[in-house]
Amino acid sequence: VVEITGLQKAFGELQVLKGIDLQVERGQVVCVIGPSGSGKSTLLRCVNMLEEPNNGTIAVNGTELTDPDVDIDAARRSIGMVFQSFNLFSHLCVLDNLTVAQRKVLKRDKEEAERIARDNLKRVGLSDKAGSMPSQLSGGQQQRVAIARALSMNPDLMLFDEPTSALDPELVGDVLSVMRQLAEEGMTMLVVTHEMQFAREVADVVLFMDGGVVVEQGPPEQVIGNPQQQRTQTFLSRVL
Ligand code: ATP
Ligand code: MG
Repeated sequence: VVEITGLQKAFGELQVLKGIDLQVERGQVVCVIGPSGSGKSTLLRCVNMLEEPNNGTIAVNGTELTDPDVDIDAARRSIGMVFQSFNLFSHLCVLDNLTVAQRKVLKRDKEEAERIARDNLKRVGLSDKAGSMPSQLSGGQQQRVAIARALSMNPDLMLFDEPTSALDPELVGDVLSVMRQLAEEGMTMLVVTHEMQFAREVADVVLFMDGGVVVEQGPPEQVIGNPQQQRTQTFLSRVL
């Protein structure tokens, strides 16, 4: 689903991504771990073209995003993104948060959009919150609404950037279990996370990034369980 080769990204003088190669196969969960500032968010933002790469290629579903002739909006439609901050529309109720893009972008009629929205609210365990305003929900519930909103667009790929980092500890579990369930349903997912237990149990591949390069990648039992590189060992000894 995702094929990245030689991806480089700089902000002015600062070289943030120094040649990243990454593949995500259909149905795979790839978790990206690494210290603050290592370029994890920048990598994710390049995948849906919120940042423009300086070099390298990114293909999603066979569409070369770095090709200047490509319709980026169309390509982006197949990618769902969930951020650390929930980014819900605060003036819209939960149901409307889930229907607005479906109607505007996918041109679904009201009835169909609402049916899909309710299906996805059910999926994240929030059937009873359709009429609530975001401010009436806990952080964990808001994040699950954000996930349901992304799912309502029928993405082929879901990107998560530290979806639980802004949450109170007791709310983290609900969000992770929704993500776990999505993984079990076969969703293709690229997840930046500090939740090592989640990465260990759910990821097919774990990628450790440091200083804009992939230092180590492989199955979690290898990268987290038995890291070969000194930098990975040092990072894990701090977070585990
Ligand atoms: P964290 O774990 O703290 O979220 P990260 O691995 O996601 O870190 P990035 O957000 O990708 O790191 O940032 C990598 C580097 O790029 C940092 O040094 C950051 O300051 C810099 N950076 C990110 N976005 C921009 C931007 N728009 N303009 C300038 N520098 C940026
Ligand atoms: Mg980040």
